[in-house]
Amino acid sequence: MVRISGVEIYHEKIRYKEPFRIALGTSTESNNIVVRLVDSSGNEGWGEGSPSRAILGETLDLVFEEAKKIAAEILGKDLDSEGLYEIVMKSKSPSAAAAFDIAFHDLKAKRLGVPLYKLLGGYRSSIETDITIGIMEPDEVAERAEKYVKMGFKVLKIKLGEKPEKDLLRIEKVRERIGDKIGIRVDANQGWSVEEAIYMAEQLESFNVELIEQPVKWNDFEGLAKVRKASNIPVAADESAKTPSDVVKLAKIDAVDIVNIKLMKTRGIWGAIKVAAVSEAAGIENMIGCMGETRLGITAAVHVSQALANITINDLDSDLLHGEEVVIEGGASISNGVRRAGDRPGLGIVKLDMSKLRLISRYGKV
Ligand code: MG
Repeated sequence: MVRISGVEIYHEKIRYKEPFRIALGTSTESNNIVVRLVDSSGNEGWGEGSPSRAILGETLDLVFEEAKKIAAEILGKDLDSEGLYEIVMKSKSPSAAAAFDIAFHDLKAKRLGVPLYKLLGGYRSSIETDITIGIMEPDEVAERAEKYVKMGFKVLKIKLGEKPEKDLLRIEKVRERIGDKIGIRVDANQGWSVEEAIYMAEQLESFNVELIEQPVKWNDFEGLAKVRKASNIPVAADESAKTPSDVVKLAKIDAVDIVNIKLMKTRGIWGAIKVAAVSEAAGIENMIGCMGETRLGITAAVHVSQALANITINDLDSDLLHGEEVVIEGGASISNGVRRAGDRPGLGIVKLDMSKLRLISRYGKV
């Protein structure tokens, strides 16, 4: 059990290098919540949540309002992972919940003196991530793909979800430019109809595409199942799969091959472990992705991915798309697409740039 004796809630605004466009909209900055938890011996844990209006229905005001409620509820209480999970599951803000859960697990692992991934399962010591290319003109996508390959990335994730002919042209141009050895994943972010998705699955086969993520509307589970049945390329659910019970519903109708876990959807690490366990039991592979986290939140996801065998596909790159960073020292490293959480205790974050954090509220003894 961990007794939380102090809580701090911060707002963090981080610019993208350039506007990041997907089928659901364009982002120019991440407006995130950062949480610091302190125990009675002065150990601290840090967590981050990256809200999403389009996917999680969150506004920044709601996130901070909900964070204050969680803070008031956990202060002075003896908690462990499952008890905190019960509390954060009641929250109207999944990303505020995630920030608390991540900070709690950072603190818990630090108290035990172990890197978080070893506490959670310790399956591997590194992972390989793709890097994402937003929606751009086909020639620009190809140019960007070449740049990332030169930087050492072996797998690219390309955002689609516009008209099929233009989407196809994007992939055609990318393949032409980067050759056959680089992996390509595509994500339509719900942009296609079922008919368009089936057509695209057929057409994309000759370009050796690894997976098609969220081809149709998030609540169209039957549609997803139709696409999966018609497609020779594995189909992944992202927006459709937020909770363990979503995965059960998808599994019952054989709707997907892959479920994309995001700590922001699962309300943190403990929920992610549950989604992974349900997926594994259903014979569904896991991918792990992100919203707009800095290296702080991404590091938590790298620990989870290193911990669990069922997570085999990694899309942990939002910090690489930002033009600024809150983590000054420590956290997950990146080299040629390979990320390592490292072996420092907890998340392994050594130093944060406090000038990027604006205090929203403070509770107890910090
Ligand atoms: Mg996605």
